[in-house]
Amino acid sequence: MNATTRTLPVKERFHLPKGVIYLDGNSLGPLPRGTTERVQQMMEQEWGDHLITGWNRDGWMEQPARVGNRVARLIGAPAGSVTMGDTLSVKVYQALSAALKLRPARRVILSDSGNFPSDLYMAQGLIRQLGQGYTLRVVAPEEVAGAMDDTVAVAMITQVDYRTGRMHDMTAITRAAHAAGAIMLWDLAHSAGAVPVDLAGSSCEFAVGCTYKYLNGGPGAPAFIYAREDVAAEMQPALAGWLGHDAPFAFEPEYRPAPGIARMRVGTPPVIQMTALEQALTVWDGVDMQDVRAASIRLSELFIKEVEANCPQLRLASPRDPAMRGSQVSFAFDDGYAAMQALIAHGVIGDFRAPDIMRFGFTPLYLDEEDVRQAARILTRILTDRLWDAPEFRTRHQVT
Ligand SMILES: *Cc1c(COP(=O)(O)O)cnc(C)c1O
Repeated sequence: MNATTRTLPVKERFHLPKGVIYLDGNSLGPLPRGTTERVQQMMEQEWGDHLITGWNRDGWMEQPARVGNRVARLIGAPAGSVTMGDTLSVKVYQALSAALKLRPARRVILSDSGNFPSDLYMAQGLIRQLGQGYTLRVVAPEEVAGAMDDTVAVAMITQVDYRTGRMHDMTAITRAAHAAGAIMLWDLAHSAGAVPVDLAGSSCEFAVGCTYKYLNGGPGAPAFIYAREDVAAEMQPALAGWLGHDAPFAFEPEYRPAPGIARMRVGTPPVIQMTALEQALTVWDGVDMQDVRAASIRLSELFIKEVEANCPQLRLASPRDPAMRGSQVSFAFDDGYAAMQALIAHGVIGDFRAPDIMRFGFTPLYLDEEDVRQAARILTRILTDRLWDAPEFRTRHQVT
């Protein structure tokens, strides 16, 4: 760690409720301090006082590119290659449709069964829209590289599995896609801010991801999209909105794409939410993703060791080798839903994914070893004393 690197963790930079150990930053990151003040200032001074002049005066129009550059640094992408907006599902649709256009003679979208359902749904919806014999081929995660052939137009793969934390080898799979002549689209939803990513080095064509998980942008924070420079220059946006036009304020009747990644903008950016994200991303200033990764592995290995030593009821559902995991650890337990509800009631927040997965995210910016030990102690007590076995913990809520 050199002198310019901030020492991990930077816990004091987050608002964390007293008495809570937060192991769910993989699903919704906590509120970074300073965000409330910055958003209030934006609303009062920029929106309130500057009104419509804020688009120029306060840089609202360039904000998607500016914030994109902050995200780019964290995912190994060059400046100017990332833009922000919409939700991840929309960005998946945009990248996928642009990718298919680049391989017009091919008809298969390849994905895997560990992908997040929304990515698969977006592919299914796009295929129905396109007709023309397009199909979605979904294989087991370990079969992805072997399933590349000359029918595959695009491989759409999420690097880190949202349920188990299993992590794909980005370099190897991208290489296999390219060897088969396919376009590579990575979903980095559980990678950005969690593990070091080298997008430029991987030479994949497209990547997308969200910013409300490890990047702490807040619920509904805008998503990001990346395209390799040569691809960005030729891709055709399916959602040809005016802010992805080369000259939005010329109000021309015909669409002409903006240069590069800016054509993946669609409509007016959500300035309030984007301001919260822009401020939230300042906690990463001076933070090296390699340091985050090393700390994340330390914390997750400690958690696995403590839980396996004290909770024989649970079975590790994540890869045992930390190099094969993202920044989360999952345990399978038949009564996992109730156990997670009990755990939350005792101040340790993780989450549950059907059918039986208890999920714990490790976010070294605001978690330390004592948090992890304490979380394991509380989990042990809940299981040993069967504190989960109560009606109030079995009632299913809408969000699990
Ligand atoms: C979280 C997540 C999503 C969510 O998409 P939104 O449109 O932002 O709700 C999509 N895909 C993956 C892989 C995810 O992990």
